[in-house]
Amino acid sequence: MSHRRSKHLRPPRPLASVHPYAEEKSDGRWIVQTMPGAKTLKTYRCPGCSAAISPGTAHIVAWPDTPGLGDDRAVDARRHWHTACWERHR
Ligand SMILES: [Zn+2]
Repeated sequence: MSHRRSKHLRPPRPLASVHPYAEEKSDGRWIVQTMPGAKTLKTYRCPGCSAAISPGTAHIVAWPDTPGLGDDRAVDARRHWHTACWERHR
């Protein structure tokens, strides 16, 4: 007897396009997520160029894939980067 759930049509999810992906840098493996400008409501400081990322600027958020010792919440270590600065950063 099979109790397969009937497949009911779910509305397609809005295309978020914010899938995190992993990227290897010289300082380790980072999880990277793109932030569309429309979602950027705060000003962040870019560690690459020390300049501000203004609200409305598309950029990326990166956090360590492997948290360091005593750092059990990698999400706390998130950094906001200009996309170009992140790509320059090796
Ligand atoms: Zn920058």
